[in-house]
Amino acid sequence: MIDLRSDTVTRPTAAMREAMARAEVGDDVWGDDPSINAFEQAVAERAGKAAALLFPSGTQSNLCALLTHCQRGEEVIAGQYSHIYREEGGGAAALGSISVQPLPHEADGSLALESLRAAVKGDDIHHCRSRLLALENTFRGKVLPRDYALAATAQAHAQGLATHLDGARLFNASVATGLSLAELCEGFDSVSLCFSKGLGAPVGSLLLGEADFIARARRWRKTLGGGMRQAGLLAAACHHAFDHHVARLADDHDNARRLAEGLGAIPGVELRACDTNMVFTAVPAAHCGPLQAHLEARGILAAVGPVTRWVTHLDVSREDIERVVAAVGDYVTRAGSDLAAAAS
Ligand SMILES: *Cc1c(COP(=O)(O)O)cnc(C)c1O
Repeated sequence: MIDLRSDTVTRPTAAMREAMARAEVGDDVWGDDPSINAFEQAVAERAGKAAALLFPSGTQSNLCALLTHCQRGEEVIAGQYSHIYREEGGGAAALGSISVQPLPHEADGSLALESLRAAVKGDDIHHCRSRLLALENTFRGKVLPRDYALAATAQAHAQGLATHLDGARLFNASVATGLSLAELCEGFDSVSLCFSKGLGAPVGSLLLGEADFIARARRWRKTLGGGMRQAGLLAAACHHAFDHHVARLADDHDNARRLAEGLGAIPGVELRACDTNMVFTAVPAAHCGPLQAHLEARGILAAVGPVTRWVTHLDVSREDIERVVAAVGDYVTRAGSDLAAAAS
Protein backbone atom coordinates (compact mmCIF):
# COMPACT_ATOMS: atom_id res chain seq x y z
CA MET A 1 0.00 0.00 0.00
CA ILE A 2 1.04 3.60 -0.60
CA ASP A 3 0.13 5.21 2.70
CA LEU A 4 -0.18 9.01 2.66
CA ARG A 5 -2.32 9.35 5.79
CA SER A 6 0.63 10.36 7.95
CA ASP A 7 4.42 10.22 8.25
CA THR A 8 3.98 8.09 11.39
CA VAL A 9 3.31 5.00 9.26
CA THR A 10 6.95 4.45 8.24
CA ARG A 11 8.55 1.08 9.01
CA PRO A 12 12.11 0.61 10.21
CA THR A 13 14.54 -0.07 7.36
CA ALA A 14 16.83 -3.11 7.30
CA ALA A 15 19.81 -0.93 8.27
CA MET A 16 17.83 0.54 11.16
CA ARG A 17 16.89 -2.93 12.40
CA GLU A 18 20.56 -3.91 12.26
CA ALA A 19 21.50 -0.85 14.30
CA MET A 20 18.86 -1.87 16.84
CA ALA A 21 20.17 -5.44 16.99
CA ARG A 22 23.72 -4.19 17.59
CA ALA A 23 22.77 -1.70 20.33
CA GLU A 24 24.44 -2.01 23.71
CA VAL A 25 21.89 -1.60 26.45
CA GLY A 26 21.53 -1.06 30.18
CA ASP A 27 18.87 0.06 32.63
CA ASP A 28 18.04 3.63 31.63
CA VAL A 29 16.05 4.37 34.78
CA TRP A 30 19.44 4.09 36.49
CA GLY A 31 21.10 6.07 33.67
CA ASP A 32 22.97 2.94 32.56
CA ASP A 33 21.97 2.58 28.92
CA PRO A 34 24.97 3.61 26.78
CA SER A 35 22.94 3.80 23.54
CA ILE A 36 20.42 6.16 25.10
CA ASN A 37 23.09 8.30 26.72
CA ALA A 38 25.02 8.60 23.44
CA PHE A 39 21.86 9.46 21.49
CA GLU A 40 20.65 12.06 23.99
CA GLN A 41 24.05 13.71 24.04
CA ALA A 42 24.48 13.73 20.25
CA VAL A 43 21.14 15.45 19.63
CA ALA A 44 21.52 17.88 22.55
CA GLU A 45 24.85 19.01 21.13
CA ARG A 46 23.44 19.49 17.64
CA ALA A 47 20.51 21.44 19.06
CA GLY A 48 22.69 23.68 21.21
CA LYS A 49 21.04 22.49 24.43
CA ALA A 50 22.76 21.11 27.52
CA ALA A 51 20.78 17.91 27.95
CA ALA A 52 18.13 15.63 26.46
CA LEU A 53 15.73 12.96 27.65
CA LEU A 54 14.21 10.07 25.65
CA PHE A 55 10.45 9.51 25.65
CA PRO A 56 8.23 6.86 24.12
CA SER A 57 6.10 9.53 22.42
CA GLY A 58 5.96 13.20 21.57
CA THR A 59 2.77 13.51 23.58
CA GLN A 60 4.54 12.35 26.73
CA SER A 61 7.53 14.58 25.98
CA ASN A 62 5.28 17.65 25.61
CA LEU A 63 3.26 16.74 28.71
CA CYS A 64 6.41 16.24 30.73
CA ALA A 65 7.67 19.65 29.57
CA LEU A 66 4.40 21.28 30.69
CA LEU A 67 4.56 19.54 34.09
CA THR A 68 8.16 20.64 34.53
CA HIS A 69 7.52 24.27 33.56
CA CYS A 70 4.13 24.82 35.20
CA GLN A 71 2.64 24.34 38.65
CA ARG A 72 -0.96 23.36 39.35
CA GLY A 73 -3.26 26.27 38.44
CA GLU A 74 -0.79 27.92 36.08
CA GLU A 75 -1.33 28.26 32.35
CA VAL A 76 0.35 27.64 29.04
CA ILE A 77 -0.45 29.86 26.07
CA ALA A 78 -0.67 27.88 22.81
CA GLY A 79 -2.27 27.93 19.38
CA GLN A 80 -5.88 26.79 19.22
CA TYR A 81 -4.97 24.12 16.66
CA SER A 82 -1.68 23.24 18.31
CA HIS A 83 -0.98 19.58 19.01
CA ILE A 84 -0.57 20.35 22.72
CA TYR A 85 -4.06 21.84 22.93
CA ARG A 86 -6.01 19.71 20.45
CA GLU A 87 -4.31 16.38 19.98
CA GLU A 88 -2.97 15.28 23.35
CA GLY A 89 -6.13 14.24 25.15
CA GLY A 90 -6.24 17.35 27.31
CA GLY A 91 -3.27 15.96 29.25
CA ALA A 92 -2.22 19.35 30.59
CA ALA A 93 -5.57 19.66 32.39
CA ALA A 94 -6.26 15.97 33.02
CA LEU A 95 -2.89 15.13 34.51
CA GLY A 96 -1.23 18.45 35.37
CA SER A 97 -4.02 20.77 36.55
CA ILE A 98 -2.55 23.15 34.00
CA SER A 99 -4.86 25.45 32.06
CA VAL A 100 -4.37 26.16 28.36
CA GLN A 101 -5.05 29.62 26.95
CA PRO A 102 -5.64 28.95 23.23
CA LEU A 103 -5.01 31.70 20.68
CA PRO A 104 -5.98 31.87 16.98
CA HIS A 105 -3.34 31.23 14.33
CA GLU A 106 -2.27 33.72 11.69
CA ALA A 107 -2.21 32.48 8.07
CA ASP A 108 1.43 31.39 8.47
CA GLY A 109 0.62 29.38 11.59
CA SER A 110 2.13 31.87 14.03
CA LEU A 111 0.32 33.52 16.95
CA ALA A 112 0.20 37.30 16.59
CA LEU A 113 2.72 38.98 18.89
CA GLU A 114 0.09 41.45 20.03
CA SER A 115 -2.36 38.66 21.00
CA LEU A 116 0.43 36.89 22.83
CA ARG A 117 1.31 40.02 24.76
CA ALA A 118 -2.32 40.63 25.66
CA ALA A 119 -2.93 37.01 26.66
CA VAL A 120 -0.35 37.12 29.47
CA LYS A 121 -2.40 37.74 32.60
CA GLY A 122 -1.47 40.39 35.10
CA ASP A 123 -0.75 39.82 38.78
CA ASP A 124 -4.35 39.56 39.93
CA ILE A 125 -5.75 36.83 42.19
CA HIS A 126 -8.65 36.37 39.78
CA HIS A 127 -6.36 35.12 37.04
CA CYS A 128 -4.52 32.00 36.23
CA ARG A 129 -0.79 32.64 36.42
CA SER A 130 0.61 32.68 32.87
CA ARG A 131 3.74 30.59 32.99
CA LEU A 132 4.62 29.24 29.56
CA LEU A 133 4.42 29.97 25.85
CA ALA A 134 4.30 26.85 23.64
CA LEU A 135 4.85 27.17 19.88
CA GLU A 136 4.90 24.49 17.17
CA ASN A 137 7.31 24.12 14.23
CA THR A 138 6.37 22.91 11.68
CA PHE A 139 2.66 23.64 12.08
CA ARG A 140 0.57 21.81 9.45
CA GLY A 141 3.77 21.57 7.46
CA LYS A 142 4.43 25.31 7.64
CA VAL A 143 7.80 26.47 8.89
CA LEU A 144 7.52 29.03 11.68
CA PRO A 145 9.51 32.07 10.49
CA ARG A 146 12.75 32.34 12.48
CA ASP A 147 12.46 36.08 13.08
CA TYR A 148 9.01 35.46 14.50
CA ALA A 149 10.20 32.67 16.81
CA LEU A 150 12.98 34.90 18.13
CA ALA A 151 10.63 37.85 18.64
CA ALA A 152 7.88 35.78 20.29
CA THR A 153 10.25 34.02 22.68
CA ALA A 154 12.03 37.28 23.58
CA GLN A 155 8.69 38.93 24.28
CA ALA A 156 7.54 35.95 26.38
CA HIS A 157 10.74 35.99 28.39
CA ALA A 158 10.40 39.75 28.95
CA GLN A 159 6.92 39.08 30.34
CA GLY A 160 8.27 36.44 32.73
CA LEU A 161 7.21 33.34 30.79
CA ALA A 162 9.24 30.28 29.92
CA THR A 163 9.13 29.00 26.33
CA HIS A 164 8.60 25.54 24.87
CA LEU A 165 8.78 24.39 21.24
CA ASP A 166 6.83 21.40 20.01
CA GLY A 167 9.29 20.51 17.26
CA ALA A 168 7.81 17.15 16.32
CA ARG A 169 8.80 17.96 12.72
CA LEU A 170 11.60 20.44 13.39
CA PHE A 171 13.96 18.43 11.17
CA ASN A 172 11.62 19.15 8.24
CA ALA A 173 11.89 22.86 9.07
CA SER A 174 15.67 22.60 9.19
CA VAL A 175 15.93 20.85 5.82
CA ALA A 176 13.40 23.20 4.21
CA THR A 177 15.15 26.38 5.36
CA GLY A 178 18.79 25.32 5.60
CA LEU A 179 18.78 26.61 9.19
CA SER A 180 20.57 24.42 11.72
CA LEU A 181 18.74 22.60 14.48
CA ALA A 182 20.47 24.92 16.97
CA GLU A 183 19.24 28.02 15.13
CA LEU A 184 15.70 26.70 15.15
CA CYS A 185 15.89 25.87 18.88
CA GLU A 186 17.21 29.33 19.78
CA GLY A 187 14.96 31.24 22.17
CA PHE A 188 13.25 28.13 23.53
CA ASP A 189 13.90 26.88 27.07
CA SER A 190 12.73 23.42 26.08
CA VAL A 191 12.19 21.63 22.79
CA SER A 192 10.46 18.37 21.93
CA LEU A 193 11.61 16.44 18.82
CA CYS A 194 10.07 13.33 17.20
CA PHE A 195 12.03 10.56 15.49
CA SER A 196 8.99 8.45 14.63
CA LYS A 197 7.51 10.80 12.02
CA GLY A 198 9.29 11.35 8.70
CA LEU A 199 12.61 10.25 10.22
CA GLY A 200 11.26 6.72 10.26
CA ALA A 201 12.09 5.36 13.73
CA PRO A 202 9.43 3.07 15.21
CA VAL A 203 9.28 4.94 18.55
CA GLY A 204 10.99 7.87 20.18
CA SER A 205 10.97 11.54 21.06
CA LEU A 206 13.47 13.71 22.87
CA LEU A 207 12.93 16.59 25.27
CA LEU A 208 15.82 19.06 25.28
CA GLY A 209 16.73 21.81 27.70
CA GLU A 210 19.10 23.02 30.40
CA ALA A 211 20.59 20.39 32.71
CA ASP A 212 18.49 21.30 35.76
CA PHE A 213 15.30 21.40 33.67
CA ILE A 214 16.02 17.93 32.27
CA ALA A 215 16.83 16.63 35.77
CA ARG A 216 13.40 17.79 36.95
CA ALA A 217 11.77 16.40 33.79
CA ARG A 218 13.40 13.03 34.51
CA ARG A 219 11.43 12.84 37.76
CA TRP A 220 8.17 13.66 35.98
CA ARG A 221 8.92 11.13 33.24
CA LYS A 222 9.17 8.42 35.93
CA THR A 223 5.92 9.63 37.48
CA LEU A 224 4.21 9.39 34.08
CA GLY A 225 5.38 5.81 33.66
CA GLY A 226 7.81 6.83 30.93
CA GLY A 227 10.94 5.46 32.60
CA MET A 228 12.04 2.70 30.24
CA ARG A 229 14.68 0.05 30.91
CA GLN A 230 16.80 -1.39 28.05
CA ALA A 231 15.34 1.11 25.61
CA GLY A 232 18.72 1.53 23.92
CA LEU A 233 17.18 -0.65 21.21
CA LEU A 234 14.81 2.22 20.49
CA ALA A 235 17.46 4.92 20.89
CA ALA A 236 19.62 3.05 18.36
CA ALA A 237 16.77 3.27 15.83
CA CYS A 238 16.37 6.99 16.52
CA HIS A 239 20.14 7.54 16.36
CA HIS A 240 20.26 5.76 13.02
CA ALA A 241 17.46 8.03 11.77
CA PHE A 242 19.28 11.09 13.10
CA ASP A 243 22.46 10.08 11.23
CA HIS A 244 20.89 8.84 7.98
CA HIS A 245 17.36 10.12 7.47
CA VAL A 246 17.52 13.87 8.01
CA ALA A 247 18.99 15.12 4.72
CA ARG A 248 16.65 12.85 2.75
CA LEU A 249 13.63 14.76 4.09
CA ALA A 250 14.36 16.99 1.07
CA ASP A 251 13.07 14.11 -1.10
CA ASP A 252 9.81 14.13 0.87
CA HIS A 253 9.49 17.87 0.30
CA ASP A 254 10.14 17.42 -3.46
CA ASN A 255 7.58 14.63 -3.56
CA ALA A 256 5.04 16.83 -1.77
CA ARG A 257 5.60 19.60 -4.34
CA ARG A 258 5.15 17.14 -7.21
CA LEU A 259 2.00 15.75 -5.59
CA ALA A 260 0.61 19.29 -5.13
CA GLU A 261 1.40 20.16 -8.72
CA GLY A 262 -0.17 16.93 -10.01
CA LEU A 263 -3.32 17.08 -7.89
CA GLY A 264 -3.73 20.82 -8.37
CA ALA A 265 -3.86 20.33 -12.15
CA ILE A 266 -6.83 17.94 -11.89
CA PRO A 267 -10.17 19.68 -12.51
CA GLY A 268 -12.45 19.49 -9.47
CA VAL A 269 -9.54 19.11 -7.04
CA GLU A 270 -8.71 22.30 -5.18
CA LEU A 271 -5.15 22.68 -3.94
CA ARG A 272 -5.23 24.41 -0.56
CA ALA A 273 -1.61 24.30 0.60
CA CYS A 274 1.73 22.57 0.17
CA ASP A 275 4.39 23.03 2.83
CA THR A 276 7.39 20.80 3.62
CA ASN A 277 5.99 17.24 3.53
CA MET A 278 2.28 18.06 3.62
CA VAL A 279 -0.25 18.77 0.89
CA PHE A 280 -3.83 19.84 1.56
CA THR A 281 -6.57 19.49 -1.04
CA ALA A 282 -10.34 19.75 -1.11
CA VAL A 283 -12.97 17.94 -3.17
CA PRO A 284 -16.73 18.36 -2.85
CA ALA A 285 -18.10 16.47 0.17
CA ALA A 286 -20.12 14.00 -1.91
CA HIS A 287 -16.91 12.71 -3.50
CA CYS A 288 -14.87 12.11 -0.34
CA GLY A 289 -16.09 8.56 0.36
CA PRO A 290 -16.08 7.38 -3.27
CA LEU A 291 -12.62 8.87 -3.92
CA GLN A 292 -11.19 7.23 -0.81
CA ALA A 293 -12.65 3.84 -1.86
CA HIS A 294 -11.36 4.31 -5.43
CA LEU A 295 -7.85 4.94 -4.08
CA GLU A 296 -7.95 2.10 -1.60
CA ALA A 297 -8.93 -0.32 -4.35
CA ARG A 298 -5.72 0.79 -6.11
CA GLY A 299 -3.47 0.30 -3.10
CA ILE A 300 -3.48 3.91 -1.91
CA LEU A 301 -4.40 4.94 1.63
CA ALA A 302 -5.52 8.53 2.18
CA ALA A 303 -7.87 10.03 4.75
CA VAL A 304 -10.07 11.80 2.22
CA GLY A 305 -12.24 14.39 3.93
CA PRO A 306 -13.59 17.87 3.16
CA VAL A 307 -9.91 18.84 3.44
CA THR A 308 -7.48 16.00 2.79
CA ARG A 309 -3.99 16.01 4.26
CA TRP A 310 -1.49 14.04 2.17
CA VAL A 311 1.79 13.39 3.95
CA THR A 312 4.99 12.26 2.20
CA HIS A 313 7.67 10.26 4.00
CA LEU A 314 10.45 7.69 3.83
CA ASP A 315 8.21 4.91 2.48
CA VAL A 316 6.72 6.97 -0.37
CA SER A 317 8.73 7.13 -3.61
CA ARG A 318 8.46 9.43 -6.61
CA GLU A 319 6.84 6.57 -8.58
CA ASP A 320 4.28 6.23 -5.80
CA ILE A 321 3.46 9.93 -6.15
CA GLU A 322 2.92 9.51 -9.89
CA ARG A 323 0.61 6.55 -9.19
CA VAL A 324 -1.41 8.63 -6.72
CA VAL A 325 -1.77 11.54 -9.15
CA ALA A 326 -2.81 9.12 -11.89
CA ALA A 327 -5.34 7.38 -9.62
CA VAL A 328 -6.98 10.67 -8.58
CA GLY A 329 -7.01 11.78 -12.22
CA ASP A 330 -8.64 8.50 -13.17
CA TYR A 331 -11.31 9.00 -10.50
CA VAL A 332 -12.11 12.47 -11.80
CA THR A 333 -12.30 11.23 -15.40
CA ARG A 334 -14.83 8.59 -14.31
CA ALA A 335 -16.81 11.02 -12.17
CA GLY A 336 -16.72 13.35 -15.17
CA SER A 337 -18.88 16.42 -15.33
CA ASP A 338 -20.51 15.37 -12.06
CA LEU A 339 -17.39 16.41 -10.06
CA ALA A 340 -16.74 19.55 -12.10
CA ALA A 341 -20.39 20.58 -11.56
CA ALA A 342 -20.23 19.88 -7.83
CA ALA A 343 -16.99 21.86 -7.57
CA SER A 344 -18.36 24.93 -9.34
C1 LIG B 1 3.05 13.72 16.19
C2 LIG B 1 3.14 15.01 16.92
C3 LIG B 1 3.43 15.05 18.28
C4 LIG B 1 3.68 13.81 19.10
O1 LIG B 1 2.79 12.79 18.87
P1 LIG B 1 3.00 11.30 19.37
O2 LIG B 1 2.13 10.55 18.46
O3 LIG B 1 2.58 11.27 20.77
O4 LIG B 1 4.45 10.95 19.23
C5 LIG B 1 3.51 16.28 18.87
N1 LIG B 1 3.31 17.41 18.18
C6 LIG B 1 3.04 17.41 16.88
C7 LIG B 1 2.86 18.70 16.15
C8 LIG B 1 2.93 16.21 16.19
O5 LIG B 1 2.67 16.21 14.88
